[in-house]
Formats: sequence, structure tokens, C-alpha cells
Amino acid sequence: MLPAWSIVFGVAFGAAVGSFLNVLIYRLPRNLSIAFPPSHCPQCGHRLGVRDLFPLLSYLAQGGKCRYCRAPIPVRYFLVELWNAGVWAWLWHQWLIVGESPLRFVVYALAASVLIAIFFIDLQHYIIPDELNVALLVLGLLHAGLLKGAPTDWDWASLGVLNLRNAAIGALIGAGLFSAIAILGRIAFRRDAMGHGDIKLVRGMGALLLAPGMLVAFGVSIATGAVLGGLWAYWRSRRAPAPANDAPNPADEPLPPEPLGNLLASCLLYILWVDALITLLPHRVQQRVYAALGQPDEELADDAFEETPTMLPFGPFLAIGALAVMLFGGTLAAWTRAYFEWAGF
Ligand SMILES: [Zn+2]
Repeated sequence: MLPAWSIVFGVAFGAAVGSFLNVLIYRLPRNLSIAFPPSHCPQCGHRLGVRDLFPLLSYLAQGGKCRYCRAPIPVRYFLVELWNAGVWAWLWHQWLIVGESPLRFVVYALAASVLIAIFFIDLQHYIIPDELNVALLVLGLLHAGLLKGAPTDWDWASLGVLNLRNAAIGALIGAGLFSAIAILGRIAFRRDAMGHGDIKLVRGMGALLLAPGMLVAFGVSIATGAVLGGLWAYWRSRRAPAPANDAPNPADEPLPPEPLGNLLASCLLYILWVDALITLLPHRVQQRVYAALGQPDEELADDAFEETPTMLPFGPFLAIGALAVMLFGGTLAAWTRAYFEWAGF
């Protein structure tokens, strides 16, 4: 539909949105306002000028340092812009140059950005802000509603047909599957097996990718989690100083697991989307509702607890799985079909 050179717009828009994602990644888990104050250096507080706000280029031109106080800017800022620019360029090519679906480009590009924000926030803070999970769910419903009947990569029975009913079924299977893992893990191992944010994330993935795509994304996340998680744990255990053996470290004591009744009630809320509706209420009302329900307040300070070498959130891998399905859905669908045939389904 569009000429091939237009992909530079995909890169530019993607980098600009990536720049905004950096604001979300810093402010959402700290419960700071997204709009105020305007962007400033967290080190010296200097407000950023026009020259500092060119995505990718400002970072390179200033050698990764604040122009005012020379404090180093974390490389994450650059990586987020680069990653988002690459994903938007890919989707731009897929849906605007080769394909002809501006609507799908918009929904997929926004959803991909939400997933990238989730990746970095969960990696650093072990939390997925409710706003992002709800955004993913809403984008999934918009995708299914507005593009009803558009072709998808999936044809498992009729669950791969794009419509609102199948988006709701995908969300139900996602939330149900991860609730079951959380509850069974809690019963079998007497410890928290799955974060609440993960259940809500898979619910949104189910709505966006439909049940077949969500299950493939789950498979991809387990595979990447096993490989990268192993490497990560190894790297961290080498890097962390060896703990003294004589004195027991109070940080080694695991936190008591969540009461089972609490977990069951939460899972029911997630399956019925009650939490998503609560998220749309003003923040003060939300807190009151959760207090009345006896639910834990998910607000978290920056360093609420120490990381241990083996500790790794699952959300980032789920985000990678979902992104893989959005970008390479056709290939993954062909592989899954080949596997099914080989397995004799
Ligand atoms: Zn500064």
C-alpha cells in the first residue's frame, strides 16, 4: 500500500514512542504522574530541552551522559527506543507496505509498546502495573471487534477466527490457565508460584492473540525463559558476592506465601475482569475497594526487597513470547502445524 521508503516513518514514530515508554517505565512503578513534571534529569533535576528530546540521536550525540551534569544515562533508555523503533518498523512493513491494514498496524504497534514497557518494568521491579495489563486487554478487544473476520495465522478449530467472542475466550483460557498454575503451585509447594500480574498479562495476551496465539506465546516464553533465565541466574550468581556461611542472613528467609483464600478470590476477580473495571476508577477509590476486598496493595517502593541470584520474573518472558507471535505469527503457526502433524493430531 505505502512505498517501501516510508519505513523511515515507522522507525521515527517507533523511536519517539519508545522515548515516551521510558517515561512510563520510570514513573508507572513509582506511582508518579505521567504528565507532570516535564522530563528532567533525575540526577541534577535540569529540565530537558529540545536538544535532549531527539530519540536515539540525543543519547548518541551526548555519549550517554546528561548534557548538564554529565551523569551517565542508563543504556536502558537507548535500548527501549531502539527496540520499539525496530518493532514499529517491522509492523509498518508487515501491515502498511506489504499488507493493507492500517488498523491492525495501529493496534499491534501500541500493544507491542505496552509489552516492551511491561518487559522492562517487571524485570526491574517484579511488578506489572495494572494500567498496562488493562491497556493490553482493551487493545485486544478493539483488535477483535474492529477487525472482525480478518484473517489470522490460526485455524485451531474455530478459536483462531477473529471476533469478540474468541477474544473473550482467549482471555478466559489465559486467565484460567495461569490461575490454575498459581493455585496448584501454591498448594503443591506452599509458596507463591505465579505473580498476580502474570495472570492479568496472559489474560490480555489471550484477548489480543486469541487462544491459539496465546498458547504458542506461552510456549515461546517457557523456551526463552529456560535458556535466558538459566544464563541470567548463572551470571548473577557469579557477580553477587558469596554470602558469609556462619551467620544466617535474614533475607534468606522466604516471605510467607499468600493465603490460599486470598489467591482464589483474586483469581476469580481476574477471570471475571472485575479488577480491570476497578482499574478504570480513580486511584483513591481503587485503594478503598481493594482494602475492602482484603487484597494486597500492589504499590511497591523502588527497592522493597533484595534480589536473590535465582529470582527472575516471568512477565518479561511472556512479553517476549507475545511479541514473537505478533511479529512472526505466520512462521510460528506453520511450525505448530508441522508439529501437530508430526505428533499425529
Ligand atoms: Zn543531569
